Amino acid sequence: MLKRTTRIVLVNPPSAEGTTANREGAGGLGTVVRSRSAFFYPPYTIALLVSQLRRAGLDAEGLDCVGKKLSFEYALKLLAEHTNRPELVGVQTSVMSAAADIKFATAVVRSLPGARVFLFGASVHLVLDKIWSVPELKYVLAGEPEASIVSFSKSCLNGDSTPVRSVKHATQQIGPGELPRVQELDTLPFPAWGPPGKLRYPFLTVLSSRGCPLRCTYCPYVVGLGGRLRSQSPPRTVEELLHIRNRYLCRHVIFRDPVFAADRERVILLTDEMRRRNVHVSWECESRPEHFDPELLKLMAQAGCRRIKIGVETVSERLLLRYRRVESHEEYQHYLHSIGEAVAAARKHNIGSDVFIMIGLPGESADDVEKTAQFIEEIKPSKVVVKIFENYPGTPIYTKKDTTTLSAAYTNLLCLREELRARFEVHRPQTRYTLVPRRLRSLMKRLLHGRG
Ligand code: SF4
Repeated sequence: MLKRTTRIVLVNPPSAEGTTANREGAGGLGTVVRSRSAFFYPPYTIALLVSQLRRAGLDAEGLDCVGKKLSFEYALKLLAEHTNRPELVGVQTSVMSAAADIKFATAVVRSLPGARVFLFGASVHLVLDKIWSVPELKYVLAGEPEASIVSFSKSCLNGDSTPVRSVKHATQQIGPGELPRVQELDTLPFPAWGPPGKLRYPFLTVLSSRGCPLRCTYCPYVVGLGGRLRSQSPPRTVEELLHIRNRYLCRHVIFRDPVFAADRERVILLTDEMRRRNVHVSWECESRPEHFDPELLKLMAQAGCRRIKIGVETVSERLLLRYRRVESHEEYQHYLHSIGEAVAAARKHNIGSDVFIMIGLPGESADDVEKTAQFIEEIKPSKVVVKIFENYPGTPIYTKKDTTTLSAAYTNLLCLREELRARFEVHRPQTRYTLVPRRLRSLMKRLLHGRG
């Protein structure tokens, strides 16, 4: 499973028993759901870091314990029984999975004396207090790891022995607010997903743009990926799609860009290039409703788009204004109109539409929830994904207190989540429901009033 001579191993650590961790979910702040067989994404960051390290002449491999469903003990055994034990082990972490990841990283330090063990991930800087509370842990790679993995690894392998117990790594001092990020995405290599041939993942992911210039105040994506939109050039993205198709025989791709269609011109050029180069890969993406106009959706369908994910959250004007999702009444009206228009145009072009709504935003009333459910039923998307509001550290509205105004039944749901967190010791298994629109209202009633 691991080559015996590898010097650097990057690990997507095991999910805690009964849960599935997506450390790249929510812009790198992570998601944890309550099922070992839940949906998960292939570990894009690790595949990319391995590729960067190999391009720099270093011997590196990834170990995806979530995808391979490896237990904590088995993953440790694999690392420890390596004949030439790895000299450098990176453990990916996120806000939501931090406690489990720290436990794993600590066990790696104990079972591999002599190896340097570091934690990395887009939100590692938000869990430093937890990391530094464990004396064995001495290294983190803060910011986007792609920005500094090569210099950090070289420095560690060259024997720099300075323990790093602040937001800095072995070669560079970093202050808060100056987390390193990759500025030119085209300079990154294609992720090393594995040996050529079909992979066990049913799809692969591409991150063709990062960051979002908008400022919804509950949003974890801006915290993890920054507030500036950075994009690959369309020819570079198409090269990656062809590489995925030809090397890994993969015919379906999920774009993980937080706002894939924010730059309309880029998407037009990208879809042109996909058609011109006969990519023949089906794909899906997500963006705000206003980004998906009918003309653009037509071009996307012609280029292989089969599903769009539309972040709606709520249709309450009061809440959308309060959380800066929209800035004025006119913008709100355009927002509502765009949702219905995008769903209808997607249907016309044979593109599935998944609408994402959130319940439990502080200040939301049962009436707001009911109106959102009613609206979604009317526009009839293919699927609805209901997420319980998550109070993410680093967002402008983050507070340690639960400030939701929803009913006792909703509060019970939050208590259930807390109970699960306690049971699993580490994280907050999130509550998320995917369903067809006609089931939405009965789910809402059940969540809010305990009936349905
Ligand atoms: S549009 Fe809002 S919610 Fe979506 S990524 Fe941007 S800031 Fe976040």
